[in-house]
Amino acid sequence: MTPAVLAIDQGTTSTRTVVIDQRGQVVASSQRPIQLTSPQPAWLECDAQQLYATVQQTIEEALAKVPKGIRVSAVGLTNQRETVVVWDRKTSEPIYPAIVWQCRRTTDKCAELKKAALEQLIRDKTGLCIDPYFSATKLRWLLDNVPQARLAELAFGTIDSWLLWKLSDGLVHATDQTNACRTQLFNIDRCCWDDQLLDIFQIPRHLLAEVYPSGHLFTTLSSGVLRGLPVTAVAGDQQAALFGQLCLEAGQAKNTYGTGGFLVLNTGTRRITSQHGLLTTLACQLPNDDKPRYALEGSVFIAGAAIQWLRDNLQIITDAAETSTIAQKTADCGGVVVVPAFSGLGAPYWNAEARGAIFGLTRSTTRNHVIRATLEAIAQQTADVVEAMTADAELTDRLRVDGGAVANDFLMQHQADLLGITIERPSYHESTVIGIAYLAGIIGGIWSNPSELANHRLIDRLFVPQIDDQQRREHRQIWHETVNRIRL
Ligand code: ADP
Repeated sequence: MTPAVLAIDQGTTSTRTVVIDQRGQVVASSQRPIQLTSPQPAWLECDAQQLYATVQQTIEEALAKVPKGIRVSAVGLTNQRETVVVWDRKTSEPIYPAIVWQCRRTTDKCAELKKAALEQLIRDKTGLCIDPYFSATKLRWLLDNVPQARLAELAFGTIDSWLLWKLSDGLVHATDQTNACRTQLFNIDRCCWDDQLLDIFQIPRHLLAEVYPSGHLFTTLSSGVLRGLPVTAVAGDQQAALFGQLCLEAGQAKNTYGTGGFLVLNTGTRRITSQHGLLTTLACQLPNDDKPRYALEGSVFIAGAAIQWLRDNLQIITDAAETSTIAQKTADCGGVVVVPAFSGLGAPYWNAEARGAIFGLTRSTTRNHVIRATLEAIAQQTADVVEAMTADAELTDRLRVDGGAVANDFLMQHQADLLGITIERPSYHESTVIGIAYLAGIIGGIWSNPSELANHRLIDRLFVPQIDDQQRREHRQIWHETVNRIRL
């Protein structure tokens, strides 16, 4: 029997379960969409029970597809980060829908905290800025606004904790460090919940989960289709993707081109405080690591979503994949610059009020110019974050890439050109689910160490820079001048 890992990836728009065998091959998978609701503009929620139901369904569907001769022997769980659930420990019923990370309902609360001059203290302890993005103000909102929050026996969790609770029939209330560090209640130097932060956000300690390193025996499941199997890894999605790309040494980075863009740079045992608008976060820790591992992280709100906008809003393409050929056969952008700041600018600008624009239109502008300029903008925004990051810390290796939009050869080549560094595209683009499978498999004894995994990670293609420094500078200068025109 070949041993395998069952990896669950609970994301914002879908839940996916994948079974990966000892040779690193995906042997079965299943995916289900998640319904999101927006009861008010800029609010975002989902039903935590429905979310768990999709986990159960995809586990059952994936298991049913596992070929003969393969035996699942460990389980890993990765998840959307920062989203909060509060439930009644006695009934396991959530007292309110899960408040999703993108929800902006606590904007006023965050403004209050900034006014109270708490930003520096919070940044020092958590590595995060004050923003509705993180869990703490969302949890505070729930406790202030939901009548059942007065119940005596409540539990708070990010999605990993909620799912562990449900999978273990309420026996385990735990989380891992990569999820805990995104709540804004966790001290990333001492790796524990922080009393001063709990005071600031007025969060009772008894609501909180036990925190462990990402690779750990969280529980052995005692019921359901996974009965008898150990859960040996839990991690937030971006940190799992960093692990999946085998960025295990300081100086290695990955960028995900999904709906948004997420760049994460491993900084090893050094906790670096960014001077350029990036966040500091905990990376996955291996069992023989004696110290916490850190990473710098920068997010771009709109990456692949700009291509969806070309398709669904402007309706000038029918399919994302056609943009690569169109851009390749269009010599340049004809002076057009697209800035897709549809929901403000993320790292390194942090300008929530900025809005998108198309500049440089003339009588000769064609749809192809707009398409090419949109792809170039995705690469330019990533270059902004890479430059901010390399001003804070060293990127010593190729940039490893993943996510839906890396299928676009034009985008990848343009990215290499703008950065002046080689882009490495692996054969399998789903680094998040692979990462949690790798970690769970190492702890579960399927692989002995990460170097064994390097044989399983196949590279599809390298994109080598093809323009010179002068051309690169010109491209970047035009972009910077244009972005500055929309900043507020
Ligand atoms: P998420 O996990 O955020 O839902 P995915 O990693 O599945 O995102 O990637 C989907 C995104 O990638 C979509 O926004 C889509 O527009 C974009 N995309 C998919 N294929 C291509 C392509 N060939 N070229 C450019 N963008 C693409």
